[in-house]
Amino acid sequence: MDEIRQEFLDIVAQVRTHLEYQRALGVRSLETGTATAARPAEIPEAPRPEAAQTETAAQVPVAAGLAAVRDELGTCSRCKLAKGRKTIVFGEGNPEAVLVFVGEGPGYEEDQQGRPFVGAAGQLLTDIIVKGMQLKREDVYICNIVKCRPPNNRNPEPDEVDACIGFVKKQIAAIRPAVIVTLGNVPTQSLLGTKQGITRLRGTWQEYNGIPVMPTFHPSYLLRSPGEKGKAWEDIKLVMKKLGMPVSEKK
Ligand code: URA
Repeated sequence: MDEIRQEFLDIVAQVRTHLEYQRALGVRSLETGTATAARPAEIPEAPRPEAAQTETAAQVPVAAGLAAVRDELGTCSRCKLAKGRKTIVFGEGNPEAVLVFVGEGPGYEEDQQGRPFVGAAGQLLTDIIVKGMQLKREDVYICNIVKCRPPNNRNPEPDEVDACIGFVKKQIAAIRPAVIVTLGNVPTQSLLGTKQGITRLRGTWQEYNGIPVMPTFHPSYLLRSPGEKGKAWEDIKLVMKKLGMPVSEKK
């Protein structure tokens, strides 16, 4: 009996993630496929309170939730990275994304433009999203563990991660994605609170606050080690399956 119940719950979870994925792509109705019910059925929108009626954090509309996090970040000077930055790189994408990518921290191009993953590594991440997953960049949400560029693109130091990680956690809480992909050691270790390395963790499902997390290689590493791209694609295919997306073998 327990097995049947578990199977039923698994099916419900799969249908739910598939519908969330479709909704993120802008689909608002479904063909039912029966002769008598040929008219599309509406997918109910999650109820959203009027802004003026907002009472609890759980009721805050998603976009307003992200805006509130951005407001709280302000003109941040919580850590030493503030001194060297040109721009705070908060993150961008669909505020209702089912899929969130979390990187390490902005590089030179990101600092100049104020947008995450717009340099060479960003181009590779965009290719993974667009050519590999057949999504638009705007369908997903992309952000980093630290919002300001570490000098000479060094890894963020623990005090810098500590000062900033609360914001990525609040971004995730506002978006409530179905899946998170962490890119490389820094976001994987800091979000999951582990010291295990990316080589061990990649390709294995982890969890953050009840949200499935897929750690994979950072695109910068893949640019240096293109022979590892196949492994990253395997990880991304697991993500696509989890989201109920059609998976092709193309890299
Ligand atoms: N690397 C990152 O981790 N994040 C960016 O935004 C760009 C490069």
